Amino acid sequence: MYCPICGGKFKEINIGKSCLLLKCKQCGLLKRDLDKCFAHARAFQDFGGNSQLDKWRLANVKLLVDRIINKYFSNRKQSILDIGFGRGFLLKAFIREGHSVWGIDHDQRMVDKVSMDLERSYRSNIIHSELEKFEVPSGCFDIAYMVHVIEHLKNPSIVLGRLYEALKPGGILLIITPNGDSASLRLFKENWWFLEDPTHYYFYNHTSMHILLESAGFKIISRQPVLGESFTLEANSALRWLGFYNLNNPTLTFSSLGLSLLFNLIRIAYPDLHPSITAIARKKDDNNH
Ligand SMILES: [Zn+2]
Repeated sequence: MYCPICGGKFKEINIGKSCLLLKCKQCGLLKRDLDKCFAHARAFQDFGGNSQLDKWRLANVKLLVDRIINKYFSNRKQSILDIGFGRGFLLKAFIREGHSVWGIDHDQRMVDKVSMDLERSYRSNIIHSELEKFEVPSGCFDIAYMVHVIEHLKNPSIVLGRLYEALKPGGILLIITPNGDSASLRLFKENWWFLEDPTHYYFYNHTSMHILLESAGFKIISRQPVLGESFTLEANSALRWLGFYNLNNPTLTFSSLGLSLLFNLIRIAYPDLHPSITAIARKKDDNNH
């Protein structure tokens, strides 16, 4: 089997007694196969942590998108495409501010729930679809984003091709995803919290993300990490290392938050620890080739 990003060969790397990952020898992409790397806590279902923290995390992502709008667009009202909107926090926030927003999600329950929360006139742009197959008008969007989505995709190149088509010339794509090169994976090994989600297939690093985006025609313009992104990753990995697989109780939630503050301070001194990567990329237009 060859790397879907660069065509390189994979080698097996052993990161613990119950976890083998495949790593591309050329670009460093990590491939996760559930048969060889088990998701221990999948019975507890709540992979993403609590919804309040999720709102805070996504509020920071929204600030980043707001900065992108200020920096790259003269018009303040944008046409925005949210791929894998989940609970819909970002999508609803942009609608409230008067942007034109389309959203795609593969989970029918989320599509129904988010649609119910919106006024009728906004619902037609909330689409249930497999992410590899979504259909939106071509050349219509200023900004598209996938926040913790691309690691779930088995065919990322197909989705990026569709996103390239969907964006206007000069349009911007934002991707945030777990960092396969993070020191936190080397530190916590099979207890790395991002391995808890059984639907995480690929972990990218800056090299593999660069190749993927450039192959689709995009040009990367920033990799600045988002403050507080994956806030509890190290703390929850540490608790898992100590044998606490189900973090859904108040004492462990409190411990996780305290430890997370500490680890987020350590990230400032050791950026390699950062558990996620951010890529902001631009579709070529007549002025930026
Ligand atoms: Zn590769």
